[in-house]
This record gives sequence, structure tokens and C-alpha cells, in this order.
Amino acid sequence: MYEGINASDGVGIGVAQVAIEPDLSFVPTVPEDAEAEKVRYADAVKKFVEMTNHQIAVMAASIGDEAAMIMGAHIEFAEDPGIKESVDAAIENGICAEQAVSDAYDMYYNMFAAMEDELFRERAADVADVKTGLLANLLGKEVIDLSHLPEHSVIVVHELTPSMTADIDKDNVAAIVTETGGRTSHSAIIARALEIPAVLSVPDATTLIKTGDLMIVEGTQGKVIVDPDRAQLEHYRVKAAALAAEKEALKAFRGQPTRTADGHEVLLVANIGNPDDANGAIENDAEGVGLFRSEFLFMDAKELPSEDEQFMAYQKVAIRMKGKPVIIRTLDVGGDKEIPYLDMQHEENPFMGFRAVRYCLANPEQFKVQLRALLRASAFGNIEIMIPLVTALDEIRKVKTLVAECKAELDARGAAYKKDIKVGTMIETPSASLIADLLAAECDFFSIGTNDLIGYTMCCDRGNDRVANLYQVYQPSVLRSLKRIIEEGNKAGIMVGMCGEVAADPLMVPVLLAFGLNEFSVASPSILRTRKTISQWTMDECQALADKVLALKTANEVKAALQAAAK
Ligand code: PEP
Ligand code: MG
Repeated sequence: MYEGINASDGVGIGVAQVAIEPDLSFVPTVPEDAEAEKVRYADAVKKFVEMTNHQIAVMAASIGDEAAMIMGAHIEFAEDPGIKESVDAAIENGICAEQAVSDAYDMYYNMFAAMEDELFRERAADVADVKTGLLANLLGKEVIDLSHLPEHSVIVVHELTPSMTADIDKDNVAAIVTETGGRTSHSAIIARALEIPAVLSVPDATTLIKTGDLMIVEGTQGKVIVDPDRAQLEHYRVKAAALAAEKEALKAFRGQPTRTADGHEVLLVANIGNPDDANGAIENDAEGVGLFRSEFLFMDAKELPSEDEQFMAYQKVAIRMKGKPVIIRTLDVGGDKEIPYLDMQHEENPFMGFRAVRYCLANPEQFKVQLRALLRASAFGNIEIMIPLVTALDEIRKVKTLVAECKAELDARGAAYKKDIKVGTMIETPSASLIADLLAAECDFFSIGTNDLIGYTMCCDRGNDRVANLYQVYQPSVLRSLKRIIEEGNKAGIMVGMCGEVAADPLMVPVLLAFGLNEFSVASPSILRTRKTISQWTMDECQALADKVLALKTANEVKAALQAAAK
């Protein structure tokens, strides 16, 4: 049995698919026998076409012919006679197949990438995929595609990046195991949103586990069992059934107001990453959306989404949520969220660098595309705009100036928008916490991002398991910061919400209620459990518990006190 970080609850039983990022580097050689080298190249093409045809058949059966047709382009590029001619000619001139393939496909890639027409530009990505596939075949490496997996797959991977998770085939994924990442890394957040059990930071998982191994992944405690015996399989099947029963029982909280045992009401809303996630929010009875991470729209695209594309995505959520509040966060790029086409420079310390609102304010024209899209979508529902990673008041002022400019531009176009749209801020940096009073005076609401706030307060990378003992909300410094932020927001009469993962921590819920939090924004699968937790406490009990933990001096003491009091 291996142990790791419990990143997403539940039990997954399935077969390992070890996804090793293939190293496609090679040292160019001069082939001794050009004819044999050409045959090697032809075999690589043949294998690629066979694999692609297989994928097309699977996709046609599962998603439909249209999606399958996209893959047809890969075959065309692999078998293209012009490319074949230039690769063969290069081989005859003493160049090895790997180099010849690289050169030929790079040339086509650059040609397509430079074209005006978007459709042609999209072909560049197809060309790059074909090049990767052919090189992998020539080098005898395997490329695992997470969007087409066999049923009951357990993905075992060094690191699950947000872009890998973007198009993961979730119906076929029983569980996820990684070698890196912490509970609040974005892969963990996505795993929870997809309700896929996940255990992260299992050392050497991709070497210890082999594709085809039968596995049990216990995401609640962070255990991974390879080649389980019958008794273990039986035990975990029973456990999975019990979890399913618990989930069923929580359905009794659907349609109920979110309030404490003595009637104090708060708002319980959902965190989402794309417009379709709104369905999960509605199914779980969310009272709105407290955080739409708009960067996932950008990460799913191959180039900057246009104003209309963004407008349609935001409008979709606004309409689906039928007038309930929908807080959409502007682009939070950087840190562990990379967007390749934005061409951001490499930074030694990206979490401290040119990211989020800093990037947006430095690219105002690009930022205004998003702001106009948000404003236009606000005509269709109750959209509010939220700014990430704020550290200084001028950032809010500059954003508001840009919002005002966008409003004037839309007025000139005669486009409708919500005139009094709210503009609020994430509080996720120690600086924002310390100037919460100044920010509260000029913002319409706060939403506390504990994932980053804990990291920046404790000087801990949120994805680094070696500092996980410090990265805890139970640290007295973090508790003091939370209390201060909520109090300043309450004093100014603005709504104070929380969209970091702490909002769904049943141990912390009573403390947050006592501090005066007005809104809890959690992943959809945690909504009903959070409503249940809130219903179990009276405000007097919450206050007594908060007073008690604020007097404690270490995270361990705080956590132990919260555990002892938990209902
Ligand atoms: C946070 O930092 O708590 C937050 C909600 O934002 P993200 O996790 O996307 O950084
Ligand atoms: Mg954050």
C-alpha cells in the first residue's frame, strides 16, 4: 500500500493507466541504410494511422461522427504525399527519420500558425499532434491520451496539469494518482469538482505502478493499494457503497434554506470552472455561483477567446442560474495556471510574479475584451465581477476605470448591460488582508481565497507536500487574518464570502459563521454536506468555539479543538 495526500474523497477501483510524458528528444544520426530508414518512417506512419483509426471508431461510438471527423485530419496529415516526399528526400540526403519528420512537420506547423484564417490556424495544432505521434512511434515511446481512456481507468501520472484535466474523459476515470501536488493544487480542485477520487504526491508512483495493475484508490484517507486481495476488494466495495448511500441521504438537504440550527441564514453557492459546471451547481441546489474561474475558458482554447465567445460562455451561466448571483472572476493567469499562447515570460517565482490582475492591467486592451463580455452578459442575469490577487487599492481603482470605459463603449454601441454591476475583490494576499478596511470602502464585496491566502501568509507553496504541515488554515496567523478580513467587510456593510477550499471544511464552518462570513462558495459536490454542517450549529455554539480556538497558540491545538467539537 502507498500513501499520499487525500485530495478528492471517494473510493475508486480500476486498472492503472500510467501516463508518462514521453521524452521525445533524440540525437540526430546519419542513417547507414537510407532505404531501411524510409521503411522505419513508413512503419511509424502506418502505426499512427492504425491507432488513429481505432480512436475514430471509439469516438464515433461514444461522442458522434462529428468529433471523429476531426481526427480524420490527423490521418490526412500523416499520409500527406507532399510531406512524405520531403521526408523521404531528406532521408536520402543522410538525415535520420526523426529529424526529417521534425523538420517537415515544423515547416507545415509554422505555415499554418501564421495564417490569417482561424480555421487554418487550428490546423497547426493538428500538425503538431501528428508530429508528436510519429516521433513517439519512431522512438518507441507511448503517448497516453487522457481524453480517450478505457472504462475504469486509474490515471497514474507525475503531475496532472490543469490543461490535462481540461478534457479528461471523466466517465471512464475511476481515480487519479499523482507524484506531486497538494490538496489545493488546481488538479486537486478539478478532481473534486469532477468527483473523481484522487491521491496526490505518492512518491515514484509512475515507476512503482505499471499500466494494467488492478488498483484501489481511497481518496478520503489518501491510500493506494496495488494488486489488492479479495478481502481488500470486498472491504472497499462495501465502503464505496456506504459513501454512495451517504450521498443519497444528503439529498434531503436539497431545497432547504441554508441556516444554522437557530435560524441564522447564509448564502451557499458553487465554484465552477466552465459554463457546463453550472449544471452540477443546479443539481446540488446551489444558491448561485460564488466563483467562476474564467481562466479555464482561456486554458481550453488555442488562442484568446473573442469578446463574443466569452460573452456566450458568461451569458450561458447567467441564464442557467436564473437571476441568482453569479460571481465571475477575471482572468487569473500565472502561478500554476499556464496559458501557452499568451507567451508569458519564464519567471523564477511565478506565484510571486506577473500574474492575475497584474497581467491584466498591463494588457488593458485584452482585459477590456473580457470586461465588455462580462458587462454584456450581465444583461441576462445577476453577474458580478471579481478581481483576483489584489494587493493594492490602486489595482481596484484601475479596474474600475477600465470598467467605466467599457460601459461607455457599450453605450456607444447601444449594447445592454447591468448599470450597477458589482465589482468586488478576492482577498487572497496578506497585503489585501492588512488593507481590508481600505478595500472594503471601494469594493462591492469580498471573497476570501484561502488557497492562496494560506500559502502567502505561511510562505508555503500550496502544491508542495513537504511544507503541508505549515500550509494549514488552523495556523493562528491565518485564523487572525480571516477574522480581520470578515470583520472589516462586515463593518463596511459589504458581503463577505469565501471561495477557497476552507469554505467546505466542516471543522472550520462554525468558526467562519462566528466570524460573520455571509457566503460559502464550495465545489458542487460539497454543497449539500456544507448545508448539513451549517444546520447542526447554533450561533452561540459557533461563537464559543471561535473564542476558544482564537486563544490557542498552535495549529495542532486548534485542529484538535475543532475535531473534538465537530458534530
Ligand atoms: C483561492 O486562492 O483560494 C482561490 C479560490 O483561487 P484559486 O484557487 O483559483 O487560486
Ligand atoms: Mg487564488
